[in-house]
Amino acid sequence: MGGYGSGMSRSYKKSTADDCLQLDSNNFARCGSFKLGMRYGNIKWSQGEHEIGTCGYWSDIRESEASISFLYNERHVPIRLSWYAPGFGGRRYFFLCPVCGRRTRTLFFNQAAIACRICHDLTYESCNKSHHFDSLYKRMVE
Ligand SMILES: [Zn+2]
Repeated sequence: MGGYGSGMSRSYKKSTADDCLQLDSNNFARCGSFKLGMRYGNIKWSQGEHEIGTCGYWSDIRESEASISFLYNERHVPIRLSWYAPGFGGRRYFFLCPVCGRRTRTLFFNQAAIACRICHDLTYESCNKSHHFDSLYKRMVE
């Protein structure tokens, strides 16, 4: 006989930063991907010897505007880029989140979307400011 609560499932898992693949614009720039001109390539994420994700991209970097498109999970996601020019020359790039338009240095990829940390609702577990809210929530559900 099934006891009380035996049908309950704990399969729901809130997404955390670890569940997402991250793309940092500084790392991306270091690979030469933000040089002026058009280029395309492949981004790969690996864990040890295992490839855990891959994404195609093509970038279009000009003097006056810059954008990049990702091909991820068979979806085409265009992302606009913004930048500033630090004193020592060159440019520092930011992604503009395709969901909310915020400037972000890191994009997060998961099955559902490519977006910034906030859009992926990742701050809940990683941001200290939400701690108060965290305990309040727990008290309510207990
Ligand atoms: Zn966003």
